[in-house]
Amino acid sequence: MSKLHASLLLSAFLFQSAFSQQPQKPNAAEIFSQIQKLNFLGSVLYIAAHPDDENTRLISYMANEKKARTAYLSLTRGDGGQNLIGPELREQLGAIRTQELLEARKIDGGEQFFSRANDFGYSKNPEETLKIWNKDEVLSDVVYMIRKFQPDVIINRFDARSPGTTHGHHTASAMLSFEAFEKTNDPKIYPNQLNLVQVWQPKRLFFNTSWWFYGSKEKFDKADKTNLFNIPTGVYYAALGKSNQEIAALSRSRHQSQGFGNTGVRGEDSEFLELLKGDAPKDKTNIFEGIDTSWNRVKGGKAIGELLAKVEKNYDFKNPSASIPDLVRAYAMMQGLDENHWKPIKSEEIKKAIAACSGLYLEAVADNQETTPGNSVKLKIEAINRSAIAMQLTNIGTLPESKNTIASTELKNNIIHNFDIDLTLPSDSGFTQPYWLEQKGTVGMYAVNVQKNIGIPDIIRNQKVIFNITINNVTIPFERTIIYKYNDDVKGEVYRPFDIVPDVSTTIVDKVTIFNGAKTKTVGVKVKAGKDNVKGNVQLELPENWKATPKENAFDIARKGEERTVYFEVVAPKQSEEILAKSVAIVDGKRFDKEQININYEHISKQQIFKPAEAHFLNLDIKTGKERIAYIMGAGDEVPNSLRQMGYEVSIIKAETISKEMLKNFDVVMTGIRAYNTVPALAFKQQILFNFVAEGHTMIVQYNTLDDFVTKDIAPFAFKISRDRVTEEDAEVAFLEPKHPILNYPNKITSADFKGWKQEQGLYYPSEWDKAFTPILSAHDKGESDKKGAMLVAKHGKGHYIYTGLSFFRELPEGVSGAFRLLANMIAIQPQK
Ligand SMILES: [Zn+2]
Repeated sequence: MSKLHASLLLSAFLFQSAFSQQPQKPNAAEIFSQIQKLNFLGSVLYIAAHPDDENTRLISYMANEKKARTAYLSLTRGDGGQNLIGPELREQLGAIRTQELLEARKIDGGEQFFSRANDFGYSKNPEETLKIWNKDEVLSDVVYMIRKFQPDVIINRFDARSPGTTHGHHTASAMLSFEAFEKTNDPKIYPNQLNLVQVWQPKRLFFNTSWWFYGSKEKFDKADKTNLFNIPTGVYYAALGKSNQEIAALSRSRHQSQGFGNTGVRGEDSEFLELLKGDAPKDKTNIFEGIDTSWNRVKGGKAIGELLAKVEKNYDFKNPSASIPDLVRAYAMMQGLDENHWKPIKSEEIKKAIAACSGLYLEAVADNQETTPGNSVKLKIEAINRSAIAMQLTNIGTLPESKNTIASTELKNNIIHNFDIDLTLPSDSGFTQPYWLEQKGTVGMYAVNVQKNIGIPDIIRNQKVIFNITINNVTIPFERTIIYKYNDDVKGEVYRPFDIVPDVSTTIVDKVTIFNGAKTKTVGVKVKAGKDNVKGNVQLELPENWKATPKENAFDIARKGEERTVYFEVVAPKQSEEILAKSVAIVDGKRFDKEQININYEHISKQQIFKPAEAHFLNLDIKTGKERIAYIMGAGDEVPNSLRQMGYEVSIIKAETISKEMLKNFDVVMTGIRAYNTVPALAFKQQILFNFVAEGHTMIVQYNTLDDFVTKDIAPFAFKISRDRVTEEDAEVAFLEPKHPILNYPNKITSADFKGWKQEQGLYYPSEWDKAFTPILSAHDKGESDKKGAMLVAKHGKGHYIYTGLSFFRELPEGVSGAFRLLANMIAIQPQK
């Protein structure tokens, strides 16, 4: 139990630099906040559906003002969202948003959990959501997290009573929370969980309402709030120099992939809660009223509470180390408790406080960022005590294999100790990767078969060093995850996680290769060495009627980290066919069939994901012309690669450089997704682009959201973008203009071209448009009216302007053939001279 908790505990320190892996270095005021927290034994669990649903003002208030153990349970990791900062979608976006949440919690002081539910994309109602999720599994996860976290109070972000008014995932999260609240205390519900956790009954369930649920701020201001709880979230933390809302804004601004940068405010503020279950407190500002949040709730805890109250009272901001003797005594008393919920939680918290009070700095740095199973790394160990308190470093152990090394060493005030340790990784070490992606899940669920892993937010890293340090005859184990760091001439000290990788990984360079008939295509496969001196062969695994030459390509790579690309000549069969090609490297008779994907952004920890090394080969019946395309990137997408695969010449141009002169080199201008939300320079280039169209060319604009637009004039004619979307990827598509060239030339488009689409058909369709536009397609989700804004075509002068909300950015990288054929027709709409 205690190990389980230790692995789940997130460092809940405040206001550290947002760079992940960086050690926490709290100052005297932050340490005091940690000490105050030691004496509060109450907890709140906030429940919603996605990363960014959570109310950071409330989380920060509960964590920093109330000092409560506060967590956010996000049912999903946000795979189905859009990405404002790069091309990653689906599980890679989920991995980014997971890290963004972890960074947000470091700032607001909360902890983070997830269920196995997968954000499969927009869902219009909870019934659909709970059909695509495995309802029983998600409920089981919510029950499990409640039993494990043991919240006194649960707060729902959404209202279970208003299905259809918001994303189905949102309403479903509230419904599941409501149901779990009534079931977690029943041992007959999910009895297998009781090997790991105990039954638990939270005291109260709230709904965190806001103006949004009332339609407008004005309506909410006027609404009768006498029955609501009013939580004063506008507090100012004098010791920290920040208002609660300023902290909340810093936290919210971690959601960079969602463009949720937020500016902090100051002054009085309120959050409103509606009590859904449990007894009503008299004081409508205190959700903990009547709940014992002191050490008295733990059997034998009273004396610990008294001692910690004394530590808090006597805390010396000029000399935090004066608190250490009592903190160490309190730690020792905790170890004697016959209890296993608060004991491990508070033991971890107090260890952090002891290290912070003494300036105790402990670090284990690997000499490499990546290593392979069975290989060894050199660890540089640093240990230093920067206080007058006597400390003895009894020994250092490593995990997962417990090996104790070094002789007992006295840690004298401000004297640095360095040690070198060789660590050999077990040959069966798994690769470092998000555990929830290790096995193939379903559209609605991640596959996680190990119950105790469910809920854990982050990648599980088992490589650790334990420093056993004795203070006043009490030995305290301090655990540090092995990290890697280096000095960057520009950025300074850069921390990276330490990762385990395979001996070799391969990547088929183009995720989609289009074959036009039986012509030969050259396919590149990148081979990356995970260790020095790797020799072997790479093969392409294809169905029998496809041919690759050579059969295998030898490689010999001297240095770890180095990449080589080998090439195959591939011939497709005569008939149209879509296949998944696999690349495999064979080294010493062992198969390596994984692709390593690195995700690297400054605001989050670096991560790697391993996927089967696969790519789509499409032998398509498609006709394309010779159009030269200028592509203006928006938020980021992979469409230009797909266009090149189709045989077009594509130049990615910067909006700033657009001029009449430069457009002379092109036949078509295409804007990337959300270009009119993200590229301010476009505002000044629209007239040039419209003139380009009028002179007899084509402009294709992909979807934009309702967020701020860089210009009101996206098109030469008026139209209004709406929230209309078709989320059912298999919804029947009707052709409003069956004779229109875009459906007939050069490729005859039929309903078959809308088969096999992924996640959705399209989003943010216009709902009203000038009569200059011709709507081409119509489709709708079940139970809804027809949506006709998926593709609007207007003749402008001698050319054509096309606006489309169809999600080409999702379909093309997935190798959906109909999307390629339709796009070819859009490009060909303007007859070439
Ligand atoms: Zn959401």
